[in-house]
Amino acid sequence: MRLAGLFTRPQLGEQEAPPQEQGPAREDFAAQPEPEPAPQAQVIAFANQKGGVAKTTSTLNLAVALSELGNRVLIVDMDPQGNLTMSQGFNPDHITRSMFDVLVHRLPIEQVIHEAEVDLAVSSIDLAGAELALSSMIGRERALEKALTPIKERYDWILVDTPPSLGLLTINALVAADEVIVPVQCEYLSLRGLVQLENTLSMIRENLNPNVEIQGILPTMFDGRTLHAREAVEILQENFGELVFKTRIKKTVRYAEAPVKGLSVLKYDPSGNAAAAYRELAKEVLDGAKARKYA
Ligand code: ADP
Ligand code: MG
Repeated sequence: MRLAGLFTRPQLGEQEAPPQEQGPAREDFAAQPEPEPAPQAQVIAFANQKGGVAKTTSTLNLAVALSELGNRVLIVDMDPQGNLTMSQGFNPDHITRSMFDVLVHRLPIEQVIHEAEVDLAVSSIDLAGAELALSSMIGRERALEKALTPIKERYDWILVDTPPSLGLLTINALVAADEVIVPVQCEYLSLRGLVQLENTLSMIRENLNPNVEIQGILPTMFDGRTLHAREAVEILQENFGELVFKTRIKKTVRYAEAPVKGLSVLKYDPSGNAAAAYRELAKEVLDGAKARKYA
């Protein structure tokens, strides 16, 4: 080793043989591109503290529509009632390990993911105890965010279904989320709850997740024949403008029939209007994601 060369100027004549050990010059290091970080899943939480507004229906059917377009999708059931889990044909009463174990005992989430139309992290009735169990833990609002971090590279989209409350399970979903989709039944009374949801979101932005945004408000169970439904959508647009998705999810019994068979509506009735509506929503979501990426 020519240690001397490192400390003294090279003599004339020595210059043709630069010391091998020196490695590339600083400029070469700078020129080397940073290794690209692996793409991470976008996390969307479906939230509305009102029950029966189509959170679960929208989580499943948007997920399947995104997967039909070639995306890798995971859905996460954060509702102790386990409707999302049931809607893919699993019985929450027979599930031994669920999101409860992931959130409370830090079980790796892979261990509760089941293969279904898309990958599904299951819920069981135990999850009802998670709010209480989490409440005394440090980092109680970040349990889901932590659980998702190691698997974010494996998916393009992670869609999280939440229970009809603004408790710790929903807060965990909003903290883990990049975006929130708010399904709203097209009825005047359903619109009033949005103020409370917005307040919760502001609190989360201030304290826990500054980046979370409402991706869109999704009018569901829309019956275009009634003046009331049309007016409800008008009120939504007056208040939230561009945030209201262009896609309207119409009222039809297909959405109630499909889960009884353990299927999404896209698989249950692939060529029907109900399936088409969620395919249209998937395009809107993908266009929105692209627009944000290149904004
Ligand atoms: P949430 O998760 O908000 O409680 P769900 O997705 O479980 O709501 O929907 C509540 C009920 O309404 C379910 O029985 C579901 O099948 C039905 N449903 C969902 N979307 C529609 C729709 N567009 N038209 C008619 N019924 C619907
Ligand atoms: Mg639900």
